[in-house]
Amino acid sequence: MIYLNFIRSKKFIIPLLIFFIGIPLQLVIIYRVEKKAILKEIDSELLEAATNIKYYLGKDYVSKKLNGRSYNKERAVEIFTDLQERAVEQNVDYLYILVKSEDDIVYAALSDYKEELDDSEKAYFWYSLTEAEDDSFDETWSAFDREEPLFLNSSDEWDSYRSVYLTETAPDGTKYIAGADVTITTLNDKIMERIMRIMKMFLIAFPIIISFAHMERENKIIEGEMEKLSTKDTLTGVYNRKHGLKMFKELSEKGMEAEVFIVDIRGLNKINADQGLTTGDRMIKAFAGILKKSVRKSDIVMRLEGDKFMVVLSEFPVESEENMLVNLQGSLNNFNMNNPTNLYIQIIHLFKSYKKGEVEGFIGGMLKDLIAKKRYVSEKDIEMVQEMFESIEEDRFVVHYQPKVNIQTESISYEALIRWDHPEKGLIYPDYFIHVAERSVLINKLTIFVLNESLKAAGRMNTKISVNISPAAFESDLFISEVKEILGKSKYNNLLTFEITEGVAIDDVQNTLEKIKILTEYGVVFSIDDFGTGYSSLGYLEKLPVREVKIDKTFTDNLKLKTINPMIVRFICELGKVMEFDVVIEGVEREEQIWELMKLGGSSFQGYFFDRGHPIDVTIKNRKMCLEKVKIFKEPVGS
Ligand code: C2E
Ligand code: CA
Ligand code: CA
Repeated sequence: MIYLNFIRSKKFIIPLLIFFIGIPLQLVIIYRVEKKAILKEIDSELLEAATNIKYYLGKDYVSKKLNGRSYNKERAVEIFTDLQERAVEQNVDYLYILVKSEDDIVYAALSDYKEELDDSEKAYFWYSLTEAEDDSFDETWSAFDREEPLFLNSSDEWDSYRSVYLTETAPDGTKYIAGADVTITTLNDKIMERIMRIMKMFLIAFPIIISFAHMERENKIIEGEMEKLSTKDTLTGVYNRKHGLKMFKELSEKGMEAEVFIVDIRGLNKINADQGLTTGDRMIKAFAGILKKSVRKSDIVMRLEGDKFMVVLSEFPVESEENMLVNLQGSLNNFNMNNPTNLYIQIIHLFKSYKKGEVEGFIGGMLKDLIAKKRYVSEKDIEMVQEMFESIEEDRFVVHYQPKVNIQTESISYEALIRWDHPEKGLIYPDYFIHVAERSVLINKLTIFVLNESLKAAGRMNTKISVNISPAAFESDLFISEVKEILGKSKYNNLLTFEITEGVAIDDVQNTLEKIKILTEYGVVFSIDDFGTGYSSLGYLEKLPVREVKIDKTFTDNLKLKTINPMIVRFICELGKVMEFDVVIEGVEREEQIWELMKLGGSSFQGYFFDRGHPIDVTIKNRKMCLEKVKIFKEPVGS
């Protein structure tokens, strides 16, 4: 299997190339090494064969021969045949006896010479070395005086040889040489055979060696992975509890202090139950990613259990805790708003400073606190989200329209206000559910619903309608692109106003400005809602192209109190005239409030005095009554 994977992986190509490019060099090396080894083997075979000759031929062979007691032809052939067989047995090519004769050296016995025999008796045993044109004559001559065996390479008229000469002494004192030859061709054949065998082995072994090397490397990688596995949580890639705690303990042993953050994903059990464990796992993984991005590299992030994570922030500048939360909440919102599924991540968290002491006890204490906090962070929210998703499908949301009146121009526009027609609880107002919806893509869906309804209503009444856009929705790219799609198809865009709050405007003025510009191109105008409740920076009023500013109900409520409020109302109304935006004063419930506000410069109002919000049909019916009420303020007060 590994072998196959290896072949498939094509990882052998480069080593193979190197191998083949290196072949000539390798061959030279192998040839040299092998030749030496084979020569050694052959030399020892030659020596053994030569040593044995005297035993084959009988100790007195040489003396007898040299004494002139010759063998007959039959005996000679017997000897030749015998030597030949012995040569084969001994793995050499020739065996022979050499003796000195006057100034010549002659073969006194020789294997493989049968064909050359003639009938002269002498020729059976005496064949001259010079006749054979052996180039080793001089060396052979001197070899008769040697004690040591002589190894030499020589050639004669037939071939080249590797030979051994072993000087022996016959019983009568005559010196002779017992010799054995191997032809160089045989030697080379043997070397080649050996090299081929090695090459073959190498060719077979090469991929195996490489794949072993490969396995070795793979093992190293696996070991690395294992190492990681033993410190990291397999699902999320953050530290597992064991390793995380170890790191925390090491910090504590060094006497370091830390800020510890524990966070729990809400409603995961419900997601697991409703959507399956895989979806639940996906959420945990997504959250771990968000959490990791929200902290610094030096912070220790670990998964404590299922849906609980812990971050140990050491070496912290004071603001790191706050930074982390801001980053985390921002990323979570971004995930929740731009994740087109019905899923969203909601968290419950806790911070605590660790100074010293037992780490596990400290964490135990934090987990207890977390459970306590969980109890009073309403479990209902999670159910509510699920219910809302279902209610969208079941068309259980409705839009009511409340008039905004302009006393000077005697004109009416409307604000679209969402309500939830709950199957059991009846009509539910947005203060109860909008803040929950704002934590997820749910707010996008609700706003899109209101937008579509409002466009229909605007067309039907031929009247301007305002739609509230939550910061969460306005910041979502998913939302903006959906809105653009709707506006691209509608004829009534120029009857639309988007009410955004100061919060949206101030968070990221540049980004807000860009979005406002894009939507303005579709014909939508903008209004700043709940003015005076938030940051109340007047600076951005100059930067943003708004058509309307709505002064929050608290100003209306506090008119009689001796506060700065009336002056602010007057100031905003003046500013509106200069900068050409309408000022709508919210929450007017009684006639005298309106007279009062008119004195401060107010001319547009919204409040129960004129009408509450109603479904479209009631709104249309009430329009006339509303206009009657406007007329009251056309008469100067007290006249
Ligand atoms: P808001 O934008 O300030 O809307 C005005 C709220 O004041 C409405 O409450 C309205 O019924 C209430 N109101 C108007 N005149 C009076 C009055 O004279 N006296 C009193 N006591 N209240 C008055 P509602 O409909 O309950 O909405 C509450 C908030 O919910 C809204 O405040 C707005 O922030 C949010 N909301 C409503 N509809 C939507 C919506 O479709 N989308 C979004 N994102 N938010 C919405
Ligand atoms: Ca509003
Ligand atoms: Ca308002």
